Amino acid sequence: MKRTGIFFHYQDSIRLQDFPQALEGILDKDNVFLYDACYPSKTPSSFDLEAIPEEWLYDVHSRDMVDRVRRTGEYEGALFSAAGTVSASLRIWRGEIDNAFVFTGYGDHPAGKSSFGGGCYFNGAAIAIQQLRRQFGAKRLAILDTDAHHGNGTWEIFQDDEGVLYVCFCSGRRQDQNNKVNVEIPWRVSDEEYVDLVQKAFLPRARAFAPEVIFWNWGYDGTQGDYGDIGVTPDVHVRLARLLKGVADELCHGRLIVVLCGGGRRDLASRLIPQVLSVLAGRDAET
Ligand SMILES: [Zn+2]
Ligand SMILES: [Zn+2]
Repeated sequence: MKRTGIFFHYQDSIRLQDFPQALEGILDKDNVFLYDACYPSKTPSSFDLEAIPEEWLYDVHSRDMVDRVRRTGEYEGALFSAAGTVSASLRIWRGEIDNAFVFTGYGDHPAGKSSFGGGCYFNGAAIAIQQLRRQFGAKRLAILDTDAHHGNGTWEIFQDDEGVLYVCFCSGRRQDQNNKVNVEIPWRVSDEEYVDLVQKAFLPRARAFAPEVIFWNWGYDGTQGDYGDIGVTPDVHVRLARLLKGVADELCHGRLIVVLCGGGRRDLASRLIPQVLSVLAGRDAET
């Protein structure tokens, strides 16, 4: 059974108001480990989520941008957001855990080298990738992005970098470039069509690329009734989670990091996050 890390920090967010309570029944499993910040009364297995050194930001972002984030008053939260993804990556590479779910408070993928917006500050997956390279010599890292919006920051950061496979599913059109692939999805799409697209567009590329770790920028904002509604139902997410866990098991010893991206509905968060976590931890009825 895989060891699953959950990276959590308290944040002022409506969608996550039910957390960590909504993880009851998951946190007490002996293959689940909670790494948290600002929340000392958790399970004995937990280790504090440590903040990353400021210097690590500069592998990805400009000093000017970091200064601008600091002036927003959201710097500390943004740092913890990124720290969850970075810490998950390092612990997975060291073999302490096999896969991870990261509660980001300030979604990652729009953050570029020197730009941020839409409530998103630092690009946690990008910072994590640079640390995996620096500390362990990682060579091939994959990011799958199923948030409803284009990950323009991630695309920009890695546009000339063939060592990062980035496959983004969104409504836009872009020319493939150095292992950056944009898959245009229709205006309205069914669960079957969406899962099929991910299978056809991501799996063969991932197999050919042979990633050492897979990051999944998972947004649920494309679900019916959420702010990026593309027509998929809540059920599509657990199907994607099962698919990706299988891909990670096949290609990279199960090294999968789920990075929470967009999605505003609190009821969906409370329902879907425990489902995705159950898949990661091997507690899902169908896996
Ligand atoms: Zn989004
Ligand atoms: Zn895109």
